[in-house]
Amino acid sequence: MRASRETLKLNYRPARRASTPHEKTASMPATPSPSAPLPCPLCAPDAETVVWADESCRVIRVDEHDFAGFCRVVWREHVAELSDLPVPAQRHLMNVVCAVELALRQLMQPAKVNLASLGNMVPHLHWHVIPRFTDDSRFPDPVWASARRIGAVRQAPSVAQLNEAITQSLNELTAG
Ligand SMILES: [Zn+2]
Repeated sequence: MRASRETLKLNYRPARRASTPHEKTASMPATPSPSAPLPCPLCAPDAETVVWADESCRVIRVDEHDFAGFCRVVWREHVAELSDLPVPAQRHLMNVVCAVELALRQLMQPAKVNLASLGNMVPHLHWHVIPRFTDDSRFPDPVWASARRIGAVRQAPSVAQLNEAITQSLNELTAG
């Protein structure tokens, strides 16, 4: 249950199975087997709302009804761990995560910002940046826990608002 909830909350849509040449052998059934690997949903996203991007990473707004403003920072290259990156790239990624945190604090004044990097289901380096409110459906539990209440509904910041605030915060973080 926990794994399926995480999948749901991460909003990963089931990707269509890729047809690879090695699957098409005479002994294989006409339809791909259920155990065939799925394409990485962060390398080949189905649909995303990108609010900011550079050549290294992108920030997407995850349109979760219960968690307005939920953003995800996705490293462009398919690597599993933060420590797989060269140190300057690690710093850059964490600067972007921090800029998203600052942007969400400025735009939404949350009670807390949750940062999480799990990747157990999708081992492609990404960080969740989640503004939390005392009246959201899971507070003070993690967003992947069971709901405690019907959460208050909030309006997510627009793409333009997020882009401007992230750009400004990143400039300030890297200026000094
Ligand atoms: Zn990937």
